[in-house]
Amino acid sequence: AKAEFDRHIAYYESEMDEHARQRRAMARDIWAAVEQGAFRLAYQVQKAVATGEVTGYEVLLRWDRPLHGPVSPADFIPVAEECGAITSIGDWVLRTACREAARWPEPYKIAVNISALQLGQVELVDTVRSALLESGLSPKRLELEVTETSIITDKNRALHILRQIKAMGVSIAIDDFGTGYSSLDTLRSFPFDKIKLDRSFMQEVEQNEQSKAIVRAILALGRSLSVPVLAEGVETMAQLEVLRAEGCNEAQGFLLGRPGAIDWDDLLELPVAAN
Ligand code: C2E
Ligand code: CA
Ligand code: CA
Ligand code: CA
Repeated sequence: AKAEFDRHIAYYESEMDEHARQRRAMARDIWAAVEQGAFRLAYQVQKAVATGEVTGYEVLLRWDRPLHGPVSPADFIPVAEECGAITSIGDWVLRTACREAARWPEPYKIAVNISALQLGQVELVDTVRSALLESGLSPKRLELEVTETSIITDKNRALHILRQIKAMGVSIAIDDFGTGYSSLDTLRSFPFDKIKLDRSFMQEVEQNEQSKAIVRAILALGRSLSVPVLAEGVETMAQLEVLRAEGCNEAQGFLLGRPGAIDWDDLLELPVAAN
């Protein structure tokens, strides 16, 4: 048994080493990408459910890692946080996104994801302010998306930072809503401007009455708080129909548009009267 135990431990340790080695290698490549300006941005459209009009775009970070190919931000952001590169990357994302949005026609908004680590740094307030000044973008057209988990790390500090940013006229959305373990508490602690319903709710909403009931309840919650709800991950007409029937405000997902370049046709199209 002792020999077997030792073998297990040795295996476990080599796995740990391998994992740490891979993370170090990725961190090195992330820093190189920061220096070379190798990150790109993709934009995903957000639309009003009732009219189909474009309301804005969410910015999504893209990285084509040398010798590896595209890596999802869900995989490299945690490493970028760990190695400290997230601050430079987050700065770049904010500045580039604001500059891009300043070229669009007036009402369209730009939504930018903010990581937990950024939300723990007071510098974020200055970064947002200077990104707005530099680009000339009106603060009311910028929205920051923060997750509940990124707030609870150091709640008081995060709320303090968010309040200062909101005071500039920038709006704040709560992202992946419904997946954290204290979503209602988070909602109570800050006057969010938008609720982004996590896409896991969309996956079942067509077949499952229970999921539909939960979606309906969250929409009712949004209405009673006067906070608009955007449903993420809308992939089918059936899902969109449910959202329309239940009075969801906005939607985002592959059905409405994949992340990519801005579709200028969409931005310049005249709004069609709802009937
Ligand atoms: P998120 O903020 O929840 O972003 C939505 C993710 O869902 C994106 O994945 C998007 O491509 C994907 N998506 C959109 N519509 C659909 C759909 O209909 N079906 C499915 N299955 N997926 C859909 P992506 O681009 O891989 O980003 C993953 C996560 O990485 C984001 O989740 C966000 O948390 C983070 N992220 C992305 N860009 C940034 C950034 O600039 N800064 C920070 N801090 N985080 C970012
Ligand atoms: Ca988001
Ligand atoms: Ca989300
Ligand atoms: Ca189009």
